[in-house]
Parts: sequence; C-alpha cells; structure tokens
Amino acid sequence: MRRIAIYPGSFDPVTYGHLDIIKRAVKIFDKVIVAVAHNSEKEPLFSVPERVELLKKATKGIKGIEVDDFHGLVVDYVRRKNARVVVRGLRMISDFEYEFQMALTNRKLTDDVETIFMMPSEAYSYLSSKLIKEAASLGANLKGFVPGFVEKAIKSKLK
Ligand code: ADP
Repeated sequence: MRRIAIYPGSFDPVTYGHLDIIKRAVKIFDKVIVAVAHNSEKEPLFSVPERVELLKKATKGIKGIEVDDFHGLVVDYVRRKNARVVVRGLRMISDFEYEFQMALTNRKLTDDVETIFMMPSEAYSYLSSKLIKEAASLGANLKGFVPGFVEKAIKSKLK
C-alpha cells in the first residue's frame, strides 16, 4: 500500500518553514500532496492558482511531491485522494491549541484519518506567511525567509 499524506494549508505564500516540513514529510511518505485550501474566510494576498504556482516552483526537484488545491473539508479531500494522513507543522506552543482543536474535530468527522505533526528546524520555528507579508510591506529584505522568486512575487503584489 502506498502511503500518501496530505499537507493542507493556505500557503499565502510558501515559506522556508513550509518547505522544511515538506522535505521532512517526503522522507516518511511515498507521496505528499501539498493542498492549498480555498478558504473564503481569509483575505489572501495571492489567489489559489498563484499560490499553487509558487508551491510548484518551490518544490521543483523534490521527489514524491504533488501540489493541488481543494474546496470543502480536509477530511473529504483526504478520502478522495485515498490518503489516511494529514500532516501539519507545529512551530510553537501557540500553534498547539488551534491544531489540537482541528485534529480532534477532523477525528470526530472521520476516524480513519490521522493527523501527524512535524516540527521544523528551529531556524524556521518563528516564520509565518502573515509576518513575512507584514515585514515585506514595511520594506524588509526577505532573504532567509522565502525563496527569491517568492520575495519578488510578494513585492510586486504589494506595489
Ligand atoms: P493555515 O492552514 O493555518 O492557514 P499555513 O498555510 O500558514 O496555515 O500553514 C500550513 C501548515 O504549515 C500549518 O500546519 C502551519 O502550522 C504550518 N507552518 C506554517 N509555517 C510554518 C513554519 N515556519 N514551520 C513549520 N510549519 C509551518
């Protein structure tokens, strides 16, 4: 049986933190599907197709990766993909409460999907897409946070 994991999120945009988790996940699973959620509650900087494109470019060369997008519940998407595992990143204790709630809600919705949490390198444990966008809007250099082409994309959006 092929072990497929789904790594869902907003990825608005992809950062070195996300890439760190992706690289760890592909060592454990045969295939990792990075899935960009269509989430109407948030006001994103990038459209879903733009986020998918940036992810594809950032993960080029990593074997066992697929990038996709999905509507609706994560657990329904996981089932559609014949997967059983959701991967999420845990940066700090502050992520824990939300992630815990979400994992247990998903388990209530379906008990044949498990959530696995992975910790990034400590170098990325403070990185978030939100903070990067704020820093960029104030003119920060994003080297070390996101790949160069992502920095360019953020800056041209913010112009
Ligand atoms: P959300 O689904 O909360 O909008 P994001 O797209 O920001 O999430 O992130 C998707 C997943 O990646 C989440 O599990 C989040 O905790 C994780 N993540 C985000 N940034 C990092 C990071 N710097 N290191 C490790 N995991 C991260």
